[in-house]
Amino acid sequence: MKAEEIRTALPRWRREFHAHAEEGWTEFWTTARVAGILQSLRLAPRVGAEVLDRAARMGLPAPQRLAAAQRRARREGADESLLARMHGCTGVVADVGPATAPVALALRFDLDALPLVESHCPEHAPAAGGYASLHAGQCHACGHDAHTALGLGLAARLQSGPPLRRRIRLIFQPAEEGVRGAAALLAQVRDVPRFLALHVGLGLPSGELTTGAMSLMASTKFDAVFSGRAAHAAKAPHLGRDALKGAAAALLGLHALPRCGSGENRVHVGELRGGGARNVVADKAVLRGETRAANGEMAEDLYARARDVLEGAAAMYGLDCRINVVGSTPDADSDADFAAELAAIARELRTEQGKALFRQVRESAVMGASDDAAVFMRAVQASGGKAAYAILGCTLAAGHHAPRFDLDEDCLWPGLLWLEAVCRRLATARGQAAPAMPRPLSGIPHMA
Ligand SMILES: [Zn+2]
Ligand SMILES: [Zn+2]
Repeated sequence: MKAEEIRTALPRWRREFHAHAEEGWTEFWTTARVAGILQSLRLAPRVGAEVLDRAARMGLPAPQRLAAAQRRARREGADESLLARMHGCTGVVADVGPATAPVALALRFDLDALPLVESHCPEHAPAAGGYASLHAGQCHACGHDAHTALGLGLAARLQSGPPLRRRIRLIFQPAEEGVRGAAALLAQVRDVPRFLALHVGLGLPSGELTTGAMSLMASTKFDAVFSGRAAHAAKAPHLGRDALKGAAAALLGLHALPRCGSGENRVHVGELRGGGARNVVADKAVLRGETRAANGEMAEDLYARARDVLEGAAAMYGLDCRINVVGSTPDADSDADFAAELAAIARELRTEQGKALFRQVRESAVMGASDDAAVFMRAVQASGGKAAYAILGCTLAAGHHAPRFDLDEDCLWPGLLWLEAVCRRLATARGQAAPAMPRPLSGIPHMA
């Protein structure tokens, strides 16, 4: 593809993915579309079950929802042969460069949307432009549609330019939201000496770039299912065991956990459902929550205390409480020397008019959030490699995870030029150190 074709394809691809928003593990249309574009670029993408460890998937939706999402993808024109190869799993991995050469760098791009109702007000550009989500209650409100487009743009640029001496691995990961997907693709970073993930926005305006985010927070996502006993609310409340009140007490107790100590930490309950009628003692309630902390020790302690609160509240109300961990990621830091190398490459880049491509390039910033790219980062670092998490400045119409979230598509082209420059530097440099000898991937800190 010519440069101008790729430049115009970036927002077009992003809008396609935006319209076909699919929640974690249901990205069947997105997977097929990504793989189809990669095939058209003369690459050989591996999809779904071909690349992913089924048993390591966390927070998987019910089988009926997975089946319904596959049927929907088929209705919306997803390639049948690719759907067959996926075997019910999503995600794509493709290598660019000579098949027998070592991998110089793996990059992670996330595919999934959020369970959120997108705004349809006329000031919201996707609604006004006719590319708002076609799927009720699912919305690309974090920018992963832009990440996926960037990954494809990178494949197109690398395939269009001079041949590479080493391979670049592009990992299109499902289910980043809820930190559920990376662990299932861990094998894809085995033997990889460099790893890079990126996110748009996160408070950084268009024209700026941070190459090495620090303090990605460890996080555990959990569902607590409270079971009690139903009874008549007036005639025999004493015979009931009220799951709703127990879950409500747990919610308040969780938010009363002191959030202080040796670093940033967070506790949040985002959903509480229970009961079914005003005059019945509720026999069931489900609470969905998360803990986060800037280091592993604090994260473990906070999650242990959250469990105590859940089990304590259940005991107070005579309930049974089952806690399921549905997502987990360790804390992580970018490697400062790799981030400095990435920043130096960004600072060298110029626009056609000869101006700096980025107004400001920083080598580090505190992340203040979680991303399961940390699973890959820790694995690569544990085997002697270097990893970084970059933030591509992108002015937003509303914050991440908000119904009117929208992003400045003009940030994509400079971001792509930088990613391409990084890949070319790492994959063509003569005399580059051989990839570090991998050590086993066990021993990676995991909260689950
Ligand atoms: Zn998000
Ligand atoms: Zn995100």
